[in-house]
Amino acid sequence: MNAPFRVLILAFCLFLLPAAATCLSAGEKPLTFGSGPLQSGLWTPAELAGSAADRVIGAVSAPDPSLPPYLPADLPPDLLASLALPPVPPELRGVIRRVNVRGGRKVVAVTFDLCERANNVAGYENRIINLLRAHKLKATFFAGGKWMRSHPEKTLQLMADPRFELGSHTWTHGNLALMDQAQIRAQMQPTQVQYALLRQELVRRAEARGLGARVARVPQALRVMRLPYGRSSKLALEELARAGYPVIQWDVEGERDEEVHSPATIARTDLALIRPGSIVLMHANAVPEKTFEVLTRVLKGLRKRGYELVTLSELLRMGKAETVADGYFSEPGDNLQYDAIFPGKGTLKPDPTRPYTTVPVP
Ligand SMILES: [Zn+2]
Repeated sequence: MNAPFRVLILAFCLFLLPAAATCLSAGEKPLTFGSGPLQSGLWTPAELAGSAADRVIGAVSAPDPSLPPYLPADLPPDLLASLALPPVPPELRGVIRRVNVRGGRKVVAVTFDLCERANNVAGYENRIINLLRAHKLKATFFAGGKWMRSHPEKTLQLMADPRFELGSHTWTHGNLALMDQAQIRAQMQPTQVQYALLRQELVRRAEARGLGARVARVPQALRVMRLPYGRSSKLALEELARAGYPVIQWDVEGERDEEVHSPATIARTDLALIRPGSIVLMHANAVPEKTFEVLTRVLKGLRKRGYELVTLSELLRMGKAETVADGYFSEPGDNLQYDAIFPGKGTLKPDPTRPYTTVPVP
C-alpha cells in the first residue's frame, strides 16, 4: 500500500468511522471480561466461594429437550444484533490447537469445560474457581448452554469476574461431527441466547445497585467455542466459521489418564508438555475428580517457570494460531470412539447399566 493511500485510510478510520471494528487491528481494541467492583458489589465473598454442595453431580435422568424461554426469532432486535458475530477471519479457521506466540513469550491459556448433556446435570468445582481467584489468575470456561441454565448464579459470577472469559460448549454437548446444519445451529444458538438472557439479569442487578456502567465490560456474546468430544466435520467448521466462533482445542490434555495416575504424575506430564502459547484442557464440572489436585500442582509449576496465564481471546491476539483439520485429544483419531459411546449424537450420557469408558471427554 503506498503512503498517501495509507494516510487516507488512517484519516477515514480516525475521523469517519471511529467505532468501526474493521479499522482496528486485532491488538487495538481492548478486551475486557468483567469487573471486580461489579463482582464484589453483587456477591459476598462467601457467596462467591460457594460450598461442597456446588460440586454435587445429578444422576442420569430422562432427557430434557427444553430450550431457553426465547429463541433468536423472539428476541428484541437490539439484543439479537448484539449476538451477531463477524465471520471468523481466515487465519483463525480450522481447529485451533495452540498459538505460536510472538517472541516466545511465556503465556499459557488454562481452560475448563463445563459440560452438561440432555439427561444429566453436572456440578461446579468451586475449589478450582476459588484457587484461581485466590491467585488472581486468568482462565477460560467453555460452558454448555444447558449448564448455564442449571447453574445461573454461578454463570453470573463467572461472567462478572474480570479475569474469566466464557466460551460456548454447545447446548447439550452435541457431537457436531454427527450433526447437520440445522442440528448444529440448534446446539449453538440457544447457548448464545442463554448467555444473553443471563447477561440481561446481570445488567438488571447491576443497575439496581448503581453499577450499571460496570456491566459494559462483560462481553455481550460468547466469542469462542469448544467442540464436545473435540469432534467436528467440514460442515461443522464451515458453519461455526460463518457464525463467528473460533474453534478452540488444546495441545495439552491436562487430565490425561486421570483414572490410573496420581495428580502429581499427571501434573508433571502437563508441565513437561506446556510451551509458550499452549492451551491446557481441564474441566470444572467436578468430572473428572482429580482436577483440583492436578491444577494446584500445575499452577505452582507454571509460576516457578515464569509463565503468565491469559484468556483464550488474549492468547489468539498474541501470535499465529496453529490449526488442524480434525480435532483430537493427544493423537489424531483418538476421539473417534466417542461417536459410538455417547448416544443422541453426543447429547446423552449412556445408560448407566451398560459398561462404557470412564475416560473424561471434553
Ligand atoms: Zn465437554
